[in-house]
Amino acid sequence: MQHILEAIKAGASSEEISNLKIPESYRAAYVKRDEADLFDGRESWEKDPRESIHIGEVATPELAPDEVYLAVMASSINFNTVWTSIFEPLPTFGFLDRLGKESEWGARHARDHHVLGSDACGVIIQTGSAVRNWKPGDRVNVHCNYVDDQDPAAHQDSMMASNQRIWGFETNFGGLADLSVVKANQLMPKPEHLSWEESAVNALCASTSYRMLVGDNAARMKQGDNVLIWGASGGLGGYACQLVLNGGGTPVAVVSSDDKVSLLNELGVQHVIDRRAEEYKFWRDETNQDDAEWRRLGKKVRSFTGEDPDIVFEHPGRSTMGASVFVAKRGGKIVTCAATSGYMIEYDNRHLWMRLKKILSSHFANYAEASAMNRLIDQGKIQPILSKTFTLANTGEAANQVHHNLHEGKLGILCLAPEAGEGITNLEKRQSIGENKITLFSRHAEAIEINN
Ligand code: NAP
Repeated sequence: MQHILEAIKAGASSEEISNLKIPESYRAAYVKRDEADLFDGRESWEKDPRESIHIGEVATPELAPDEVYLAVMASSINFNTVWTSIFEPLPTFGFLDRLGKESEWGARHARDHHVLGSDACGVIIQTGSAVRNWKPGDRVNVHCNYVDDQDPAAHQDSMMASNQRIWGFETNFGGLADLSVVKANQLMPKPEHLSWEESAVNALCASTSYRMLVGDNAARMKQGDNVLIWGASGGLGGYACQLVLNGGGTPVAVVSSDDKVSLLNELGVQHVIDRRAEEYKFWRDETNQDDAEWRRLGKKVRSFTGEDPDIVFEHPGRSTMGASVFVAKRGGKIVTCAATSGYMIEYDNRHLWMRLKKILSSHFANYAEASAMNRLIDQGKIQPILSKTFTLANTGEAANQVHHNLHEGKLGILCLAPEAGEGITNLEKRQSIGENKITLFSRHAEAIEINN
């Protein structure tokens, strides 16, 4: 891949790039099929991504007509990297095998290794014969909605396609690698004012938060709405807070440390609850919830805004859903996309139906939603929440930090990009948006490290 990196750095033309030889193998972060039982008998928290994620050469797949070869400059860790690496709730090889049976091109994915990663920023090296809107040399971000156009259901909202998949989780050849194959309908222009890694961390989490809060398919936040946001300094939450502020709403954020409280205050979030300091405990034991705790949270939220939340931004799942349903206002919405703490959910249905609340489901984003979010980032209205950058060789360590909630915002991974900070092609725009705004999360993480 070195010749590809050198050509990109030298500013090679589209034609020169298209003539570069695609190597027969490339460096990638992957898990192995024959290790899917590696953690059998261990508790979730004992399962260590550093043991299961391997870094090494894998064979380059052939290119389908609707795909491009992408030189991946940077990628990021998502929670799905954690799920794949700890083989929970299921090993992801089942997804690859199912895709393998779907078509001739799908068969490439059913391998004995799974290359991880559902975010990427990089440079197109070659395009398949059916690709129209992109050319070699284009600098792009990748969103992870992997869908074909041969299902009628995909034409209203591609998330409704029966074979909708998350690239790099339910498909092989993900972004945590020096090279990837990506469908042309996953591509979006890279914002010129961001570095490779600042650009790479956004698509999955930011687009998910966009669909949950802003797009036509879920909570459809309005100006003035109060939004309770769980995990507000995490991957989803960090973008959710910004979308609420940018859209004229009032975020009430929940986090678990005073460092996170100060980070969110600096982001512009006035109302922040430290759930650890205030010792919220919604479950008395394994089977019983404590509705007095729900009430305590409701009172706290009202003490900030004078009202109950119009929207609750949910993803912790089992540990918080009872409280989320309770605190939403009469007629309010609880929008959920995940269940980090457990997916068998329990809430008091009386609070839902008697007060006419709605639980809305949401999952990633369609191409239009991902592009709308990419545009907001390009306009400098929403900032990347990159807190730390790791090398591809340290993917396991980065995934382990996310697994154990030791991070803030997003963790970036340098793939082909040799150093952080490269890839900015419009410094003037960066300066006009503001270096301090763009680097808030990374400056904050550095300050914490120095103080420790
Ligand atoms: P993240 O960066 O780890 O942030 C999640 C935050 O949630 C944590 O930082 C933590 O914040 C909070 N949290 C965790 N457990 C909690 C609990 N028991 N009670 C209250 N708060 C808790 O992860 P993320 O990227 O935001 O993703 C969150 C979840 O959404 C994951 O399960 C992920 O797989 C899922 N997800 C789904 C989609 C989709 O398309 N459906 C897309 C992206 C992510 P504090 O400790 O500070 O409170």
